[in-house]
Amino acid sequence: MSVIVQKYGGSSVSTPEKILKVAARVLEARAAGHRVVVVVSAMGNTTNDLLELARRVSPSPERRELDMLLTVGERISMSLLSMAIQDLGASAVSFTGSQSGIITTDDHTNARILKVRPHRIEAALEAGKVVIVAGFQGVSERLEITSLGRGGSDTTAVALAAALGADYAEICSDVDGVYSADPRVVPSARRVEHLSYEEMQTLADSGAKVLNAEAVEWARRNGVEVVCAATEGALRVGTRVSAPADAPRAHRHERASGVTHHPGLLYVHGHGAPPEGLWEALARFGVVDAEVTCGGPLAGADAGEGRWACWVPTQNLHPPAPFIEAARAAGGQVWPEPWTRVTVVGRGLLGGGEGSPLARAAAVVRALGIPYHGPEVSAAHLRWAVPAASAPALVRALHEALITPHA
Ligand code: ASP
Ligand code: MG
Repeated sequence: MSVIVQKYGGSSVSTPEKILKVAARVLEARAAGHRVVVVVSAMGNTTNDLLELARRVSPSPERRELDMLLTVGERISMSLLSMAIQDLGASAVSFTGSQSGIITTDDHTNARILKVRPHRIEAALEAGKVVIVAGFQGVSERLEITSLGRGGSDTTAVALAAALGADYAEICSDVDGVYSADPRVVPSARRVEHLSYEEMQTLADSGAKVLNAEAVEWARRNGVEVVCAATEGALRVGTRVSAPADAPRAHRHERASGVTHHPGLLYVHGHGAPPEGLWEALARFGVVDAEVTCGGPLAGADAGEGRWACWVPTQNLHPPAPFIEAARAAGGQVWPEPWTRVTVVGRGLLGGGEGSPLARAAAVVRALGIPYHGPEVSAAHLRWAVPAASAPALVRALHEALITPHA
């Protein structure tokens, strides 16, 4: 019998009523003939509430203790969902990340999954049970409980799907798929039917919140098909993320598929070559991207010319002060206002001469008259850094120029 993994996000399990609805949807998948493993996030705002609780007790708590606290959120939802499913007459069992065999690095609050040994899950499926797994957590080789970084339940789901050889992983939330832009910013944004792993990964790395970037990386490496679907909608209907060759014919040509921007980023930069020890100092804070425009001896240029810069998502800094200190100690300047990066994702973005997506996008950026840094370009993405306050206007203008005409 085929195995599928379904993941339900925090807003889909935010109340007891919603948990009952999810239980019914899980049993629908089972009635359709699948063995079902369900990964759940913490109810609603629980993770933020727990972080706030910690902050009120200690300004800078040890990250091991934060993990002991944060992983509780998902245990609440897993046990409640299991009870709800049992009341509907099916047999179910809930497991923590550690019981599910999710082995991680020991970077507390930002651990990465190393491997999955899902023996207990397999045995429970074999015994005819629905298995509910607490997302966002695992256990290190030293048997410490770890959490995976914000949004980590997606990674739990895809890593489990890979380990179990599941047919697909369905990521359920209150939106019915991945949109060409955030509909709150661009009202004319539309749902994208299919994305390649690379497009989805670039979108996720660039701030799209539907799917966690590490989850996409697991999917791509293991060839797991991911479907982003609505919890309120039919099974497996939404945006499909898989190999490029799976795309419907109409989607295979060059095109821009989405425009997105990062939520809060701290922008750290400096002149000349990056100081020694900088990367080591910054690595443990989850730097998303770095750029260095100076290097070794270059004809006609001084090796000390140029600049370095890197961006760190503020949401993984609990709190930002130690990071800012480390960045300053390494010689960096921290930009006082939030910046963000706006990214166009697609394929073949550099081709087409004067009418190329790059040429058209660059004209849009110039016409807006905002401060910017960039672009950084490849065939799969075009990216500018701008002050966060200007990002919505730029996203709208780029969507209007590159995506709306082809919708
Ligand atoms: N509850 C965790 C968070 O809010 C993990 C997740 O939802 O994926 O980040
Ligand atoms: Mg999420």
